[in-house]
Amino acid sequence: MFETSIIELSKSNFKSNIKYIQDLIGENVLLAPVIKGNAYGHGIEQFVLMAQTCCKIKIFCVYSACEALRVFKTAKAKTRIIIMGWLDNDEVEWAIKNNIEYYVFDIDRLRTSIEKSKKVKKPALIHLELETGMNRTGFENKELMEAIDILKSRNARHLKLKGICTHYAGAESIANYFRVRKQYNNFKKLTSMLSNNGVIAGSYHSSSSAATITYPKMRMDMVRVGILMYGFWPSQETFVGHSTKQKLHEDPLKRVISWKTKVMSVKSVKKGEFIGYGTHYFAERNTDIAILPVGYGHGYSRSLSNSGVVLIHGRRAAVAGIVNMNLTIVDITDIPNVKKGDEVVLIGEQKNNCISVSSFTAMSDQLNYELLTRLPIDIPRQIVD
Ligand SMILES: *Cc1c(COP(=O)(O)O)cnc(C)c1O
Repeated sequence: MFETSIIELSKSNFKSNIKYIQDLIGENVLLAPVIKGNAYGHGIEQFVLMAQTCCKIKIFCVYSACEALRVFKTAKAKTRIIIMGWLDNDEVEWAIKNNIEYYVFDIDRLRTSIEKSKKVKKPALIHLELETGMNRTGFENKELMEAIDILKSRNARHLKLKGICTHYAGAESIANYFRVRKQYNNFKKLTSMLSNNGVIAGSYHSSSSAATITYPKMRMDMVRVGILMYGFWPSQETFVGHSTKQKLHEDPLKRVISWKTKVMSVKSVKKGEFIGYGTHYFAERNTDIAILPVGYGHGYSRSLSNSGVVLIHGRRAAVAGIVNMNLTIVDITDIPNVKKGDEVVLIGEQKNNCISVSSFTAMSDQLNYELLTRLPIDIPRQIVD
Protein backbone atom coordinates (compact mmCIF):
# COMPACT_ATOMS: atom_id res chain seq x y z
CA MET A 1 0.00 0.00 0.00
CA PHE A 2 1.14 3.56 -0.73
CA GLU A 3 -0.42 5.00 2.41
CA THR A 4 1.05 4.48 5.83
CA SER A 5 -2.26 3.34 7.31
CA ILE A 6 -5.86 2.53 6.40
CA ILE A 7 -9.23 2.92 8.08
CA GLU A 8 -11.89 0.23 7.80
CA LEU A 9 -15.59 0.70 8.46
CA SER A 10 -17.53 -2.35 9.59
CA LYS A 11 -20.91 -2.50 7.91
CA SER A 12 -22.26 -5.22 10.22
CA ASN A 13 -21.25 -3.33 13.36
CA PHE A 14 -22.86 -0.17 12.06
CA LYS A 15 -26.04 -2.03 11.23
CA SER A 16 -26.17 -3.49 14.71
CA ASN A 17 -25.71 -0.04 16.34
CA ILE A 18 -28.48 1.45 14.23
CA LYS A 19 -30.78 -1.40 15.16
CA TYR A 20 -30.00 -0.95 18.84
CA ILE A 21 -30.69 2.79 18.76
CA GLN A 22 -33.79 2.39 16.60
CA ASP A 23 -35.25 -0.24 18.95
CA LEU A 24 -34.54 2.01 21.90
CA ILE A 25 -36.21 5.13 20.52
CA GLY A 26 -39.10 3.35 18.82
CA GLU A 27 -40.53 4.00 15.42
CA ASN A 28 -42.16 7.33 16.22
CA VAL A 29 -38.84 9.09 16.70
CA LEU A 30 -36.75 9.86 13.64
CA LEU A 31 -33.08 8.93 13.91
CA ALA A 32 -31.03 11.65 12.23
CA PRO A 33 -27.38 10.63 12.01
CA VAL A 34 -24.85 13.38 12.72
CA ILE A 35 -21.86 13.20 10.39
CA LYS A 36 -20.01 16.43 11.07
CA GLY A 37 -16.25 16.29 11.63
CA ASN A 38 -15.82 14.07 8.55
CA ALA A 39 -18.33 11.63 10.07
CA TYR A 40 -16.32 11.64 13.31
CA GLY A 41 -13.26 10.67 11.31
CA HIS A 42 -14.97 7.76 9.55
CA GLY A 43 -15.05 9.67 6.23
CA ILE A 44 -18.22 11.40 5.04
CA GLU A 45 -18.40 9.80 1.59
CA GLN A 46 -17.78 6.23 2.69
CA PHE A 47 -20.01 6.65 5.71
CA VAL A 48 -22.94 8.00 3.72
CA LEU A 49 -22.55 5.22 1.19
CA MET A 50 -22.52 2.59 3.91
CA ALA A 51 -25.43 4.13 5.82
CA GLN A 52 -27.56 4.28 2.71
CA THR A 53 -26.81 0.82 1.38
CA CYS A 54 -27.05 -1.13 4.61
CA CYS A 55 -29.56 0.89 6.65
CA LYS A 56 -31.51 2.99 4.17
CA ILE A 57 -30.68 6.18 6.06
CA LYS A 58 -32.45 9.12 4.43
CA ILE A 59 -31.36 12.04 6.58
CA PHE A 60 -28.01 13.41 7.74
CA CYS A 61 -27.00 16.33 9.95
CA VAL A 62 -23.77 18.20 9.29
CA TYR A 63 -22.13 21.27 10.71
CA SER A 64 -21.21 23.29 7.64
CA ALA A 65 -22.10 24.02 4.04
CA CYS A 66 -18.92 22.33 2.81
CA GLU A 67 -19.85 19.11 4.61
CA ALA A 68 -23.37 19.41 3.21
CA LEU A 69 -21.90 19.66 -0.27
CA ARG A 70 -19.94 16.46 0.24
CA VAL A 71 -23.04 14.62 1.43
CA PHE A 72 -25.07 16.09 -1.41
CA LYS A 73 -22.61 14.80 -4.01
CA THR A 74 -22.54 11.32 -2.48
CA ALA A 75 -26.06 10.66 -1.25
CA LYS A 76 -28.99 9.23 -3.11
CA ALA A 77 -31.61 11.62 -4.45
CA LYS A 78 -34.14 12.88 -1.90
CA THR A 79 -31.80 12.45 1.01
CA ARG A 80 -32.47 15.12 3.62
CA ILE A 81 -29.43 17.13 4.69
CA ILE A 82 -29.50 19.53 7.64
CA ILE A 83 -26.78 22.12 8.25
CA MET A 84 -26.63 22.82 11.98
CA GLY A 85 -24.03 25.57 11.88
CA TRP A 86 -22.00 27.37 9.26
CA LEU A 87 -23.77 28.61 6.15
CA ASP A 88 -22.55 31.83 4.62
CA ASN A 89 -25.19 34.17 3.18
CA ASP A 90 -23.58 33.59 -0.22
CA GLU A 91 -24.47 29.88 -0.04
CA VAL A 92 -28.06 30.27 1.12
CA GLU A 93 -29.27 30.32 -2.46
CA TRP A 94 -27.39 27.09 -3.20
CA ALA A 95 -28.96 25.47 -0.14
CA ILE A 96 -32.49 26.50 -1.11
CA LYS A 97 -32.07 25.36 -4.72
CA ASN A 98 -30.94 21.94 -3.60
CA ASN A 99 -33.50 21.46 -0.80
CA ILE A 100 -30.80 21.54 1.84
CA GLU A 101 -32.26 22.31 5.24
CA TYR A 102 -30.46 24.54 7.67
CA TYR A 103 -30.60 26.06 11.12
CA VAL A 104 -31.60 29.68 11.45
CA PHE A 105 -30.48 31.35 14.66
CA ASP A 106 -30.46 35.03 13.78
CA ILE A 107 -32.59 37.60 11.99
CA ASP A 108 -29.98 38.12 9.31
CA ARG A 109 -30.15 34.53 8.13
CA LEU A 110 -33.94 34.62 8.33
CA ARG A 111 -34.15 37.71 6.12
CA THR A 112 -31.53 36.36 3.72
CA SER A 113 -33.56 33.14 3.42
CA ILE A 114 -36.64 35.09 2.39
CA GLU A 115 -34.73 37.20 -0.07
CA LYS A 116 -33.02 34.21 -1.72
CA SER A 117 -36.17 32.15 -1.69
CA LYS A 118 -37.94 34.85 -3.69
CA LYS A 119 -35.11 34.74 -6.18
CA VAL A 120 -35.05 30.94 -6.48
CA LYS A 121 -38.85 30.69 -6.31
CA LYS A 122 -38.70 27.89 -3.84
CA PRO A 123 -39.24 27.96 -0.07
CA ALA A 124 -36.25 27.80 2.25
CA LEU A 125 -36.36 24.72 4.48
CA ILE A 126 -35.41 25.99 7.90
CA HIS A 127 -34.99 24.83 11.48
CA LEU A 128 -35.49 27.57 14.03
CA GLU A 129 -32.87 27.19 16.73
CA LEU A 130 -33.80 28.52 20.16
CA GLU A 131 -31.47 29.69 22.91
CA THR A 132 -32.50 27.76 26.01
CA GLY A 133 -29.45 28.14 28.24
CA MET A 134 -26.38 26.83 26.51
CA ASN A 135 -25.50 30.33 25.37
CA ARG A 136 -24.16 29.31 22.03
CA THR A 137 -26.24 29.75 18.85
CA GLY A 138 -30.02 30.15 19.02
CA PHE A 139 -32.59 32.96 19.07
CA GLU A 140 -32.66 35.01 22.24
CA ASN A 141 -36.11 36.02 23.46
CA LYS A 142 -35.91 39.55 22.11
CA GLU A 143 -34.89 38.47 18.61
CA LEU A 144 -37.40 35.67 18.74
CA MET A 145 -40.23 38.21 18.93
CA GLU A 146 -38.93 39.78 15.75
CA ALA A 147 -38.63 36.34 14.17
CA ILE A 148 -42.25 35.59 15.05
CA ASP A 149 -43.36 38.76 13.29
CA ILE A 150 -41.48 37.68 10.19
CA LEU A 151 -42.80 34.14 10.40
CA LYS A 152 -46.35 35.49 10.55
CA SER A 153 -45.93 38.04 7.80
CA ARG A 154 -46.74 37.59 4.12
CA ASN A 155 -43.11 36.65 3.62
CA ALA A 156 -43.62 33.48 5.62
CA ARG A 157 -44.69 31.65 2.50
CA HIS A 158 -41.06 31.73 1.43
CA LEU A 159 -40.10 29.74 4.48
CA LYS A 160 -40.96 26.19 5.35
CA LEU A 161 -40.47 25.58 9.04
CA LYS A 162 -39.14 22.01 9.08
CA GLY A 163 -38.09 22.09 12.68
CA ILE A 164 -37.72 23.93 15.96
CA CYS A 165 -34.71 22.87 17.94
CA THR A 166 -32.15 23.48 20.65
CA HIS A 167 -29.03 21.81 22.04
CA TYR A 168 -28.19 20.85 25.63
CA ALA A 169 -25.08 21.99 27.43
CA GLY A 170 -23.76 18.58 28.46
CA ALA A 171 -26.37 15.85 28.89
CA GLU A 172 -23.54 13.31 29.23
CA SER A 173 -22.84 14.33 32.82
CA ILE A 174 -25.14 14.34 35.84
CA ALA A 175 -23.22 17.41 36.98
CA ASN A 176 -25.23 19.35 34.40
CA TYR A 177 -28.57 17.83 35.40
CA PHE A 178 -30.26 21.01 36.61
CA ARG A 179 -29.03 23.09 33.74
CA VAL A 180 -30.21 20.55 31.17
CA ARG A 181 -33.63 20.15 32.89
CA LYS A 182 -33.98 23.90 32.88
CA GLN A 183 -33.14 24.05 29.19
CA TYR A 184 -35.77 21.40 28.47
CA ASN A 185 -38.38 23.40 30.41
CA ASN A 186 -37.38 26.58 28.62
CA PHE A 187 -37.73 24.81 25.30
CA LYS A 188 -41.21 23.58 26.20
CA LYS A 189 -42.27 27.08 27.25
CA LEU A 190 -40.86 28.70 24.15
CA THR A 191 -42.34 26.17 21.75
CA SER A 192 -45.77 26.50 23.29
CA MET A 193 -45.49 30.28 23.13
CA LEU A 194 -44.54 29.94 19.47
CA SER A 195 -47.44 27.66 18.71
CA ASN A 196 -49.82 30.03 20.50
CA ASN A 197 -48.54 32.57 18.03
CA GLY A 198 -49.25 30.25 15.13
CA VAL A 199 -45.63 29.25 14.59
CA ILE A 200 -45.68 25.47 14.31
CA ALA A 201 -42.92 23.26 12.95
CA GLY A 202 -42.85 19.91 11.21
CA SER A 203 -40.71 18.49 13.99
CA TYR A 204 -39.16 19.32 17.34
CA HIS A 205 -35.69 18.12 18.22
CA SER A 206 -33.18 18.70 20.99
CA SER A 207 -31.30 15.51 21.78
CA SER A 208 -27.83 14.36 20.86
CA SER A 209 -26.62 10.87 21.87
CA ALA A 210 -26.38 11.58 25.59
CA ALA A 211 -29.86 13.09 25.96
CA THR A 212 -31.33 10.34 23.75
CA ILE A 213 -29.97 7.75 26.17
CA THR A 214 -30.42 9.48 29.51
CA TYR A 215 -33.55 11.60 29.06
CA PRO A 216 -36.16 9.68 27.00
CA LYS A 217 -38.65 12.56 27.30
CA MET A 218 -36.31 14.85 25.45
CA ARG A 219 -36.35 12.70 22.31
CA MET A 220 -39.45 14.48 20.94
CA ASP A 221 -39.94 13.77 17.18
CA MET A 222 -36.34 13.40 16.17
CA VAL A 223 -32.92 12.76 17.71
CA ARG A 224 -29.60 13.93 16.31
CA VAL A 225 -27.31 11.04 17.08
CA GLY A 226 -23.58 11.10 16.44
CA ILE A 227 -21.14 9.26 18.67
CA LEU A 228 -23.45 6.33 19.61
CA MET A 229 -23.97 5.28 16.04
CA TYR A 230 -20.21 4.96 15.58
CA GLY A 231 -20.20 2.62 18.57
CA PHE A 232 -18.93 4.93 21.29
CA TRP A 233 -20.58 6.31 24.41
CA PRO A 234 -20.71 10.06 25.02
CA SER A 235 -19.26 9.37 28.46
CA GLN A 236 -18.60 6.48 30.82
CA GLU A 237 -21.36 7.89 32.97
CA THR A 238 -23.91 7.60 30.17
CA PHE A 239 -22.90 3.98 29.58
CA VAL A 240 -23.04 2.97 33.23
CA GLY A 241 -26.38 4.72 33.77
CA HIS A 242 -27.88 3.10 30.71
CA SER A 243 -26.59 -0.41 31.31
CA THR A 244 -27.80 -0.32 34.90
CA LYS A 245 -31.26 0.82 33.89
CA GLN A 246 -31.50 -1.69 31.03
CA LYS A 247 -29.81 -4.47 33.03
CA LEU A 248 -27.24 -5.02 30.32
CA HIS A 249 -24.32 -7.35 30.85
CA GLU A 250 -22.23 -6.17 27.98
CA ASP A 251 -21.76 -3.15 25.78
CA PRO A 252 -24.54 -3.27 23.17
CA LEU A 253 -22.63 -0.98 20.82
CA LYS A 254 -19.94 -2.07 18.41
CA ARG A 255 -17.11 0.05 17.07
CA VAL A 256 -17.47 0.78 13.39
CA ILE A 257 -13.94 2.02 12.86
CA SER A 258 -10.66 0.16 12.70
CA TRP A 259 -7.35 1.83 12.00
CA LYS A 260 -4.50 -0.30 10.79
CA THR A 261 -0.90 -0.01 9.74
CA LYS A 262 2.09 -2.33 9.32
CA VAL A 263 5.39 -2.83 11.08
CA MET A 264 7.96 -0.81 9.14
CA SER A 265 11.08 -2.02 10.91
CA VAL A 266 12.15 -4.00 13.99
CA LYS A 267 15.26 -3.94 16.15
CA SER A 268 16.71 -4.84 19.53
CA VAL A 269 17.96 -2.29 22.01
CA LYS A 270 20.38 -3.08 24.84
CA LYS A 271 19.41 -2.61 28.46
CA GLY A 272 20.50 0.85 29.68
CA GLU A 273 19.88 2.71 26.41
CA PHE A 274 17.31 5.43 25.73
CA ILE A 275 14.83 4.86 22.92
CA GLY A 276 13.74 7.67 20.59
CA TYR A 277 14.05 11.40 21.20
CA GLY A 278 15.57 12.58 24.46
CA THR A 279 15.25 10.63 27.65
CA HIS A 280 11.56 9.78 27.58
CA TYR A 281 12.00 6.03 27.36
CA PHE A 282 14.70 4.10 29.15
CA ALA A 283 15.27 0.44 28.31
CA GLU A 284 15.25 -1.22 31.72
CA ARG A 285 15.83 -4.57 30.04
CA ASN A 286 17.00 -5.75 26.65
CA THR A 287 14.11 -4.46 24.59
CA ASP A 288 12.73 -5.39 21.18
CA ILE A 289 10.99 -2.58 19.39
CA ALA A 290 8.87 -2.17 16.27
CA ILE A 291 8.77 1.09 14.35
CA LEU A 292 5.38 2.06 12.91
CA PRO A 293 4.96 4.53 10.03
CA VAL A 294 2.26 6.55 11.81
CA GLY A 295 2.78 9.60 14.01
CA TYR A 296 1.02 12.71 15.25
CA GLY A 297 1.05 14.09 11.71
CA HIS A 298 -1.25 11.18 10.81
CA GLY A 299 -3.59 11.76 13.73
CA TYR A 300 -1.90 9.45 16.24
CA SER A 301 -1.92 12.02 19.01
CA ARG A 302 1.26 13.11 20.71
CA SER A 303 -0.64 12.70 23.98
CA LEU A 304 -0.24 8.94 23.42
CA SER A 305 3.49 9.23 24.03
CA ASN A 306 4.49 6.60 26.60
CA SER A 307 0.81 5.75 27.14
CA GLY A 308 -0.79 4.47 23.93
CA VAL A 309 -1.20 0.78 23.14
CA VAL A 310 -1.43 -1.02 19.78
CA LEU A 311 -2.12 -4.64 18.80
CA ILE A 312 0.37 -6.89 17.03
CA HIS A 313 -0.30 -10.65 16.67
CA GLY A 314 -3.39 -10.02 18.83
CA ARG A 315 -1.27 -8.81 21.74
CA ARG A 316 -0.81 -5.42 23.29
CA ALA A 317 2.33 -3.43 22.58
CA ALA A 318 2.92 -0.16 24.45
CA VAL A 319 4.16 3.04 22.86
CA ALA A 320 7.78 3.57 23.87
CA GLY A 321 8.71 7.21 24.24
CA ILE A 322 7.47 10.18 22.28
CA VAL A 323 5.12 9.86 19.30
CA ASN A 324 7.02 11.44 16.37
CA MET A 325 5.52 13.33 13.47
CA ASN A 326 5.60 10.35 11.12
CA LEU A 327 6.40 7.38 13.26
CA THR A 328 5.86 5.71 16.58
CA ILE A 329 7.97 3.15 18.40
CA VAL A 330 6.32 0.30 20.35
CA ASP A 331 7.77 -2.26 22.74
CA ILE A 332 7.43 -5.81 21.37
CA THR A 333 9.76 -7.59 23.78
CA ASP A 334 6.98 -9.91 24.96
CA ILE A 335 5.57 -10.64 21.51
CA PRO A 336 7.61 -13.28 19.71
CA ASN A 337 8.46 -13.27 16.01
CA VAL A 338 7.26 -9.82 15.02
CA LYS A 339 8.42 -9.11 11.49
CA LYS A 340 8.46 -6.21 9.10
CA GLY A 341 5.08 -6.07 7.33
CA ASP A 342 3.04 -7.57 10.19
CA GLU A 343 -0.37 -6.00 10.69
CA VAL A 344 -0.69 -3.44 13.49
CA VAL A 345 -4.05 -2.33 14.86
CA LEU A 346 -4.11 1.22 16.20
CA ILE A 347 -7.85 1.17 16.85
CA GLY A 348 -10.07 -1.89 16.59
CA GLU A 349 -9.80 -5.64 17.03
CA GLN A 350 -7.20 -8.28 16.34
CA LYS A 351 -7.57 -11.91 17.47
CA ASN A 352 -10.12 -11.19 20.23
CA ASN A 353 -8.17 -8.31 21.63
CA CYS A 354 -9.42 -4.78 21.21
CA ILE A 355 -8.09 -1.23 21.29
CA SER A 356 -10.89 1.19 21.83
CA VAL A 357 -10.23 4.83 21.15
CA SER A 358 -10.59 5.63 24.82
CA SER A 359 -7.99 3.08 25.79
CA PHE A 360 -5.69 5.12 23.63
CA THR A 361 -5.26 6.75 26.98
CA ALA A 362 -6.97 6.71 30.32
CA MET A 363 -8.05 10.29 29.80
CA SER A 364 -11.58 11.61 29.43
CA ASP A 365 -14.08 10.25 26.93
CA GLN A 366 -14.18 13.66 25.33
CA LEU A 367 -10.94 12.49 23.81
CA ASN A 368 -12.90 9.97 21.72
CA TYR A 369 -14.58 12.81 19.89
CA GLU A 370 -11.33 14.67 19.42
CA LEU A 371 -9.10 11.79 18.33
CA LEU A 372 -11.69 10.50 15.89
CA THR A 373 -12.33 13.81 14.21
CA ARG A 374 -8.64 14.49 13.92
CA LEU A 375 -8.01 11.39 11.83
CA PRO A 376 -6.69 12.95 8.63
CA ILE A 377 -8.99 13.14 5.68
CA ASP A 378 -6.41 11.54 3.34
CA ILE A 379 -6.18 8.18 5.10
CA PRO A 380 -8.03 5.78 2.76
CA ARG A 381 -11.35 4.49 4.14
CA GLN A 382 -12.67 1.09 3.19
CA ILE A 383 -16.03 -0.47 3.91
CA VAL A 384 -15.75 -4.06 5.09
CA ASP A 385 -18.39 -6.58 6.20
C1 LIG B 1 -22.52 17.14 17.46
C2 LIG B 1 -23.95 17.45 17.63
C3 LIG B 1 -24.87 16.43 17.88
C4 LIG B 1 -24.46 14.98 18.06
O1 LIG B 1 -23.70 14.81 19.23
P1 LIG B 1 -23.31 13.34 19.77
O2 LIG B 1 -22.89 13.55 21.17
O3 LIG B 1 -22.16 12.88 18.93
O4 LIG B 1 -24.49 12.48 19.60
C5 LIG B 1 -26.21 16.78 17.96
N1 LIG B 1 -26.61 18.07 17.82
C6 LIG B 1 -25.74 19.07 17.59
C7 LIG B 1 -26.26 20.46 17.44
C8 LIG B 1 -24.39 18.81 17.50
O5 LIG B 1 -23.54 19.80 17.28
